Amino acid sequence: MDFPALAPCEDYDPASLRRALETVIRDAGGLDWVKPGMRIGVKLNLCAAKKPEAAATTHPAAAAELTKLLVERGAEVVLGDSPGGPFAAPLMHRLYEATGLRLCEEAGGKLNEDFGYTEVECPGGKSLRSFACVDWLRSCDAVVNFCKLKSHGMMGMTAAVKNLYGVIPGTHKSEYHYRYEDPMRFADMLVDLNECVKPRLCLCDAVEIMEGNGPTMGTPRHLGLMLACRDPYRLDRLCAALLGVKEREIPYLEAAKRRGLLAEEEPEILEMAAPFALADFQRSGATASWFARSEDDKGLRKIAKRGMYVLFRSHPTPGPDCVGCGKCARDCPASAIVIRGGRARIRRSACIRCFCCQEFCPAGAMKVRRSLAARLTGR
Ligand code: SF4
Ligand code: SF4
Repeated sequence: MDFPALAPCEDYDPASLRRALETVIRDAGGLDWVKPGMRIGVKLNLCAAKKPEAAATTHPAAAAELTKLLVERGAEVVLGDSPGGPFAAPLMHRLYEATGLRLCEEAGGKLNEDFGYTEVECPGGKSLRSFACVDWLRSCDAVVNFCKLKSHGMMGMTAAVKNLYGVIPGTHKSEYHYRYEDPMRFADMLVDLNECVKPRLCLCDAVEIMEGNGPTMGTPRHLGLMLACRDPYRLDRLCAALLGVKEREIPYLEAAKRRGLLAEEEPEILEMAAPFALADFQRSGATASWFARSEDDKGLRKIAKRGMYVLFRSHPTPGPDCVGCGKCARDCPASAIVIRGGRARIRRSACIRCFCCQEFCPAGAMKVRRSLAARLTGR
């Protein structure tokens, strides 16, 4: 039963959430695999210390209702994430408070307090041979991936597959961005992480989603859905159809297809999404991934694809709201930002387009700017 499931959920009222979660979990195969005493790690999206209304993080009421369902089956539930920045108690406690996650403690869950990590092997990985993995998830018997549906500068959107980037501790992420500078290599790395971690169940909070300057500073938008699937790629295929984003603009879906982990097409998933699909979802830039490189590309084709990619790719650009705080310069893995004249300036030649500066600018001043070619051709 790896087909995705979807249920209407109009708001974050506990009764609505409970109904929607029970429906999608049942339709996605149920929870019979949960046994008493099992330790289950719920990987949320806690990308920033934002209030639930900002639609940047998995809603705490949804996480609390899931916790209750798992605790009722006798499981020990631990919830958490590892966003950018130091993976340590002070930052994470601030996040737990701001995002309202303490609600999960009242529901019988524990918020993660283990901030260690271990380098683990990634057998069969295409990009990754090993990776730094947070210990709290490693020590669990099973992982449930409970993501949030949002626009994303580098990957086009973020849902289940991208959410597992949070198994890498925050401070290590810069290094991974640098190592996997090309979006397709980054996408392959995300697929490797998903294949290594193998979540037992993926859920997506698509009640209030984020569009525009996502994944942290965009605009909330009502979609009114809860989604589930055991397969992260098929869940994200459903998400892409709901947003009206072409799969070729989501590098990790293309990477999953190339590796035979996702069928080329599944019209049934498009049909499922059609009644709810948005016609005017605002993306966060253009990823230019339809020029995705593949090992089969040789000679002129390879050169042409690279040229088109360079022409169409988006860039981070500081807007007039920039207050020159310097956070982006400190976080930039490529040291491509300097603060001059009270504003951030980007050296384009050094920028690797990881969009960390856009994701973590506290003023929401760093925007993803589509290239002239992308704007002229409506990409
Ligand atoms: S983090 Fe944002 S506000 Fe601060 S310098 Fe960078 S762009 Fe400007
Ligand atoms: S300028 Fe921004 S997008 Fe470019 S490398 Fe630095 S953090 Fe990444």
